[in-house]
Amino acid sequence: MQIIPKSHPRAKSLLIREKLVNGFDNGLVAKEGLLAQGRGEAFDYLLGEKTGKAAMRAIKAAAAQLLLAEMPVISVNGNIAALCPKQIVKLSKQIKGKIEVNLFYTNENRKQAIVKTLKKNGASEVLGSKIGSSTKLSGIDSARRIVDKNGIFVADVVVVPLEDGDRTTALRKAGKTVITFDLNPLSRTSQTANITIVDNVTRSVDLLVEECKKMSKNNKKSLYKIIADFDNKKNLRESVNQIRDNLTRRSKIA
Ligand code: ATP
Ligand code: MG
Repeated sequence: MQIIPKSHPRAKSLLIREKLVNGFDNGLVAKEGLLAQGRGEAFDYLLGEKTGKAAMRAIKAAAAQLLLAEMPVISVNGNIAALCPKQIVKLSKQIKGKIEVNLFYTNENRKQAIVKTLKKNGASEVLGSKIGSSTKLSGIDSARRIVDKNGIFVADVVVVPLEDGDRTTALRKAGKTVITFDLNPLSRTSQTANITIVDNVTRSVDLLVEECKKMSKNNKKSLYKIIADFDNKKNLRESVNQIRDNLTRRSKIA
């Protein structure tokens, strides 16, 4: 493992990258996951590597949605298991939601490695890995449509961090309310989800846990209002503007 001094100007970003590389070496992350990380990094750079106002608004809407959910499920892939397993388990406990391993590039060994990591980080149950527990979503081809019949299949709200656009569309078609973390406000997932948190999941997952904790005291009516007042398309435009404003500022000093 590479030693990254804290004083390095890009220390935080490099540490996240190291987590992914370690995850790859430990059999959690797919090769394609490394590429997804690279795409994410580029957008993070353009966003100014901070949680903007639009992301914060989406986090609040997501918290309200999760607190109102009857059966929330968090979908975990290799990147998430490598980046923030502890925080994901914390989120699942806070919202009394289930965790399901759901891989874009299916691989049994990788799935088991992810389950092991989640359990090591405090998960009591991880769906998506038991023989005989899978079923299929309609409207999507190949292995990508497989979900756990006790998890995503029956969930009302699904959290899908770093998801692919086809799967997000299939989840919407299946009637699920979809919450995603995606650094690219232009991706199909960002555009298709009900609530898109345009931020690095490593920064915002803790903020989501905090908001869920804070808002758990709110009455249902106020939670419904937060969701009704939230407009994902408008919010995504604000994230695009955050990039534009950041670039405008940088174009003056670069
Ligand atoms: P789509 O299929 O939705 O159009 P895509 O094909 O461009 O997206 P995918 O590889 O399918 O990209 O999805 C990965 C997404 O995750 C990318 O949009 C990438 O920006 C985002 N991403 C990568 N790392 C992170 C991270 N740490 N936090 C949040 N988002 C991330
Ligand atoms: Mg994709």
